[in-house]
Order: sequence, then structure tokens, then C-alpha cells
Amino acid sequence: MGESLSVGVVGGGIGGLAVALGLLRDGHDVHVYEQAGRLSEVGAGVQVSPNASRVLHGLGLAGALAATGVQPLAWHQRRWEDGRTLLRAPVAFAFPHYQMHRADLLRALAGALPSERIHLGHRLTGLVQHVDGVRARFAGSPPARFDVLVGADGIHSSVRRLLFGPGDARFTGCVAYRGIVPAERLRHLDLEVTAQIWMGPGRHFVHYFISGRRLVNFVAVVEQDHWTRESWTDRARIADVRAAFAGWHPQVREIIGAADETYLWALLDRPPIPRWSDGRVTLLGDAAHAMLPFMAQGAAQAVEDGATLTACLRAGDVTAALALYERLRLPRTSRLQEMSAGNKTRFHLPDGPAQRERDAQMAAGSRAWSFNALDWLYDHDAATSVGSVSGAPADRR
Ligand code: FAD
Repeated sequence: MGESLSVGVVGGGIGGLAVALGLLRDGHDVHVYEQAGRLSEVGAGVQVSPNASRVLHGLGLAGALAATGVQPLAWHQRRWEDGRTLLRAPVAFAFPHYQMHRADLLRALAGALPSERIHLGHRLTGLVQHVDGVRARFAGSPPARFDVLVGADGIHSSVRRLLFGPGDARFTGCVAYRGIVPAERLRHLDLEVTAQIWMGPGRHFVHYFISGRRLVNFVAVVEQDHWTRESWTDRARIADVRAAFAGWHPQVREIIGAADETYLWALLDRPPIPRWSDGRVTLLGDAAHAMLPFMAQGAAQAVEDGATLTACLRAGDVTAALALYERLRLPRTSRLQEMSAGNKTRFHLPDGPAQRERDAQMAAGSRAWSFNALDWLYDHDAATSVGSVSGAPADRR
């Protein structure tokens, strides 16, 4: 075990809570500062891929994940109109792939942290770095001093702005409708326990079971060239989702039709940035690498960030550790930001020659579409990756 550090984590989302738990287990004095008055996640599902479940198992959460998470048998990519299977790949990696309600994941993380470690109603407004520490200011609360400050404060990160200046997230030209449907309403569809991804011109539709198969989660993504609402999330009308997916396979339309409510998200991302760390402050999760959700990797990469950062802090002095963390994480998350953006084009091809070529490649098991070719992603061990670069022991707990 290295030196025990005082660490401030700004943001109590999946990324912030996961890194706090890892650092606490490593013997650091960690405190999480969340601007909201309570910890909450949006009412929607999240896929916890094997690269993230490996980390979460290491944090002692295997039981909590298995309690409500659903393990799909396969990824199943289908054609929008006739439901034809384009690709069906078994989910078989070193750790489980879970599909969960976000609230269950957040509850598992928060439940593993002592409540005195989480400070709600604390909005970070400023930070000053000294040679031997960082002083953070919070609206309406006393300032605090840390050896290390981690900005896990999401896509509109204040820490990022304070370190590297302003810069808006960009609208990606896609919106997502999300909804959750009681599975019993869909019993007649005899849905298989897979992650189903339906691809069509200018849009795609994803659905999977969550919450012990009691609920079906859907995400309906639609390209549109404008975003005019003031808030980034909004309740939307089921009729709008129905209209957007009119003419799609009956299974898709029935899932949409069985929902009581749906919410609309403008999908934003950021291009990769050259640096995440400055002195004793660094970024993690969406604050560092916001991406389109088309690889289902935003939260997973936030969880990986936490494991790598924790391992780096075992390896040396703080600034060197943060530099190593950035060096290890940046290429990987940049690659995923690019792949996620690329899937917008790949998933949304208009019907025609390019789409037929894509479908033929998928049917032929082309490497470009193979889930097996993603073992670099799903079998990655974010904690031990540090040892291979720095020469530090992989686990000194
Ligand atoms: P956030 O969850 O945004 O948390 C940031 C926290 O910081 C918030 O609680 C916020 O209140 C707090 N905060 C902000 N500013 C301050 C401040 N100044 N002071 C204090 N606190 C502050 N990812 C996956 O891995 N799998 C999926 O299946 C998946 N599906 C997705 C589907 C959709 C439609 C979308 C939009 C995203 C999806 N993602 C998925 C991505 C994933 O949701 C995000 O990448 C992830 O939630 C980011 O977590 P985070 O902790 O970095 O940030």
C-alpha cells in the first residue's frame, strides 16, 4: 500500500462513486462532493460490459450486480423492417455482461460507501492549486483541501472548465428516446434474453431486459439536425416515438406502444482532448471523454478510469501518477469516442448499396463487425494495465 492521500471526488455519478470506492479500499481518505441534494440516476437501463464488471467485482459488488442485473445470451443485430438477423454473437468474455437499471447500479455503489464519505448539496465553484495540495470551493459550504482532486462531474464538467477553459459539448445530430416497459406487457412477444439492436435508415432501436427480467428497457435513437429545447432532457410523447418508428418491425412498434412514458435526450459528445490532468487535479468519466452511447461504453470507461487511477496512485508521487493515468487512459477512451461516433454512420445507413454491403459483411462474420474482435475492449483489465507500463506491482492491497 502506498502513501494514504486525501482525495476529493467532484460528482456522485457512476464514475465518481466507483473511483471513490476503489480509492477508499486502497486506504485513502476519500470524500465525494455531489451538487444534487440526493444521489439519483435517470430512470433507464445501462449495459455493464465485462471490462467494467471486472472492476466492479474487484470492488466487492459481484453479489449486488447479480441480484438485479440480467446477463444476455447474445448481442443480436437485426434489420429494421423485416427483423432479419444481421449478426448474432454470443456474449462470452472473462467477466459477465450485465444489463441493469441505473438506479440499481448507483445504489450498489453508494451502498458500499460509508454515508459520511458522500457530501450532497456541494457544488464545486472553484479550485486553487498549491505545491502540496488543492483547495476546492463549494457554493454555500466551507472550502476543503486535498492532496488530489478528481473531476468526475460529467459532460458539462466544471473541473474541466477550470483546468482547461470553456468549451461547449457538441450536439451529435442524434436524439434518444428512452423508456421502460413492464415485461409482462410484452409476454406475447416471447422476447429472447439478448441485447437487440435494430438498425435502419437514420435511426436505430435497442432493447434489453433489466431488473431481474421484470422490465424491458428501450433506447430509440433518431437523427435530427437541430436541437432547440432549453433543457437537455425532456419528457416526450410516445406518439412521437411511434411516428419515428412507423413502418418498423412489429416487435419494435409493440415495445414502444407498451410504454407509459418516454424521455428525450439530446445526445452530446466532445472530441478527445490532449490532456486530462494538471498538477494534482485530473478528470474521469464523461468529464474527460464524453462519447455517443453507440458502443455502450461511457459508464464502463468511467469505471475503468477509476481502477486505473487507483492503481496509478499506488505507483509514485501524485503528479507522476496523474500523468501516468492520463497516458494510459487517453488512447483507449479516444479510440472509443471515435468508434462510438463511427457507429452513427454504420448503424444508420440508408437502404441501398452501402447498407447491402454492410449487411453482407455482418452475415459473413467480417472482423469489422465481430464482437470477438473486441476482446481488447471487453477483456481489458484496467487495474493491472498499470503494472505493465510503470513497473509498479499490479495489486498491493
Ligand atoms: P455523470 O453520470 O454525468 O455524473 C456527474 C455527476 O457530477 C452528476 O451527479 C452531477 O450532478 C455532478 N456534478 C456536476 N457538476 C458538479 C459540480 N460543479 N459540483 C458537484 N457535482 C457536480 N454507458 C455505458 O457504459 N453503458 C450503456 O449502456 C450506456 N447507455 C447510454 C444510453 C444513453 C441514451 C446515454 C445518453 C448514455 C449512455 N451511457 C452508457 C453513457 C453513460 O450514461 C455515461 O457515460 C455515464 O453515466 C457518465 O458517468 P459520470 O459519472 O462520468 O458522469
